[in-house]
Amino acid sequence: MPELHHRMKPDEAVCGVKGCEKAAVRSLPTKKVSGNIAAGLKGEEARRTPLCKEHYREYKRATKDERLTDSLGWQR
Ligand SMILES: [Zn+2]
Repeated sequence: MPELHHRMKPDEAVCGVKGCEKAAVRSLPTKKVSGNIAAGLKGEEARRTPLCKEHYREYKRATKDERLTDSLGWQR
C-alpha cells in the first residue's frame, strides 16, 4: 500500500478549527489548542490538531502573552 508512505505532513492536513477549511501549517496538541482558539475546534478526540497559518497565529498570540509577560519580567 503505497499510501502508507505518506508522511504526516502538517501542510497536507486541513485546519481543525470550526468553520475553517484552510491548509494547516502546524499540528499542535489538542489540549493546548482548544483553550486558545476562540472559534473552537471541529473535534477534540484527536491528540493533535492541525492549524492553518491564521489560527496558528491566533494560538501563538494567545499563548505568547504569557511567555512575553514572563520574559519581560512584568510585575503586577
Ligand atoms: Zn484555520
